[in-house]
Parts: sequence; C-alpha cells; structure tokens
Amino acid sequence: MSKPLFFEPLKASRAFSLLKNDFGKGLGHAYMIVSPDDDAVDEFFTLVAAAVYCETHEPCLGCAECRKILNGNNGDVFHLNEKRDKIKVEDLQNFLSGVNVKPIGERKLYFIHRADLMNAQSQNKLLKTFEEPPADVTIFLGVSNEAGMLETVKSRARTVYLDTFDAQTIYNTLLTLGIDPATCSVASACSEGQLGKAYRIAQSPDYAELYRSAIKLLKMLNRSGDVAALDSAVFMQKDVGAFLDVLSVILRDMLVAKEDSSLVLQKHIATDIEALTGNFSRHALADILLAVNEARRKLSLNVNAVATVDSLLFTILEERHKWQS
Ligand SMILES: [Zn+2]
Repeated sequence: MSKPLFFEPLKASRAFSLLKNDFGKGLGHAYMIVSPDDDAVDEFFTLVAAAVYCETHEPCLGCAECRKILNGNNGDVFHLNEKRDKIKVEDLQNFLSGVNVKPIGERKLYFIHRADLMNAQSQNKLLKTFEEPPADVTIFLGVSNEAGMLETVKSRARTVYLDTFDAQTIYNTLLTLGIDPATCSVASACSEGQLGKAYRIAQSPDYAELYRSAIKLLKMLNRSGDVAALDSAVFMQKDVGAFLDVLSVILRDMLVAKEDSSLVLQKHIATDIEALTGNFSRHALADILLAVNEARRKLSLNVNAVATVDSLLFTILEERHKWQS
C-alpha cells in the first residue's frame, strides 16, 4: 500500500487527536469510529495502526514499523471486512478466534470495517469479547450508520466521530494529489465534507458535465412547458443524485452571490452564477434549496424518481415567478 491519500488532514483531525491523547494514557478496549466516509475511515485505521507501532507515534510513515503497517505485515494487526460486505457470524468467529493469544509485541489491534453491516447475531458474538476484553487488545469498529449498531455494543465502545472537513481543506488535499484546481473546486464543494467522496468526484469525468446541465436547467426553466424537456435532460444524467448535489451547490453559491459575489465558491462558473442570480430573489433561492434537499432525501429513500424531479422543477418555476411578482 502506498501512503494514504488523506494522511495530512486525517492526522490533523480532531478524531485523531482524541485517540492520540489515549495513546499516552493507554488505549481503551474498543472504539467506534463513525463517519459516512468509508474511504476516510479505512485510511484513519491505517493512520491509527501506524501511530500505535511507529517509533515516533506521530506516525512518520517512513520507519520500519510504519512500513509494516502500510504493507500489511504487522502480525499484531488484524482486519475484517475490508471489502465492506455483510459480515457472517462465522467470519467474526474466525476473526476473533485468536483474540486471547498473546501479542508478538505489546498490543494487538483488531479493525472491523463497516461493523454496522454485522447482523444482531454477529454483534452479540462481538459483545462476548467486549464483556471480557483481553488486556492487550484494542478493537476498532468502522461505522457508517450508527443506527446499525446494537446499543449494548455501542455502550461498551468509545464513540469517536470522524471530522467533516471544510471545503478549503478538501480543496488543498486534492490539489496536493495533483488534481487540477477547477476539479478540486467542484469536488470539494460537492463532497459534504467527506474526503473520500471528494476524491471519487474528482476522479469522475462526469462532474463538469453535471455543472453544465445544472446551469442550463436554471437558465432554461421559464415556463411550465419547459418542464417535460428539462425533466428528460435530468434523467439523461447517469446519476440523478449527483446532479441534485451539484444543483444544490450552485444554488448555495447563488444565495451567497446575493450578499457578496466575491464569496462565491465555484469560481469556475462565477459568471454563470452571477447572471442567474438576478432571476431569483433570496427567498426563492432559499425555498428552492430546501426543495432540492427534500428531493435528494426522497431519492435516497427510493421514492419515484420521475415524480420527485418533476415536482422539484415545478417548485423552482413557481418560486421564481412568485417572488418576481
Ligand atoms: Zn513511523
């Protein structure tokens, strides 16, 4: 494995400083690292493991101990479910079978990726270990959705929420990965503070197209007769959810532009944003933004996509005219 992509921001995160504090006092038996950003949680695990064994505890990523972690060669470090799939009870049983065996060094670390994908039976199995924890073992649970964890498991682990990162930090991180500034700007704005999501967006060539389509939609939506055509334009997008993400980022910038156009985040489309902003009142933009968020929520719940987008477009139209009159 090469150096983690998000090493710097994760090392500077509040979550990591909480754990680092515990390294000094002695690590606890169980931690639950909570974040919807699975990629960042995976890298956070690497960072934590390296910090535990690194000669400097920083970690440095250069010493022999750090390299062992990066190469997966530390015999005291165990991972389960790196593919982020369902975890069967026998998988967990195998994983924990050696938990009472003494470590080669001073401590063993067990990492369970997407522990919230464990069913109740597996979680109860885990609970047995939590109830009689071996002194030299720490178990880390990566959790995307806290609701997926049993209260009994949660209560025995220390919960650490992985930070959401500000757009500037994400922008800078992507820039150091050699990504061009315009893409960094798009990806950081659509990332919801998630490093992994930002990186995936930056790797996807479709986002520039999503911006063009969203701007076009806001420009062309003038009367109810436009809705059907624009509706199908939305569904030409590969990922309607991503399209709505982009739309909401543009709307947020239009709201900002109402106050001060120099604060617009999306510099690469600042001219478009300024031109569009005159067509909508501040109230209309705020209402439309709410409607977009509501549509994103509905799509995530698998509510009929065509009806959802249709109703969103009518809302945009209505708001635009209501506040103009
Ligand atoms: Zn090191």
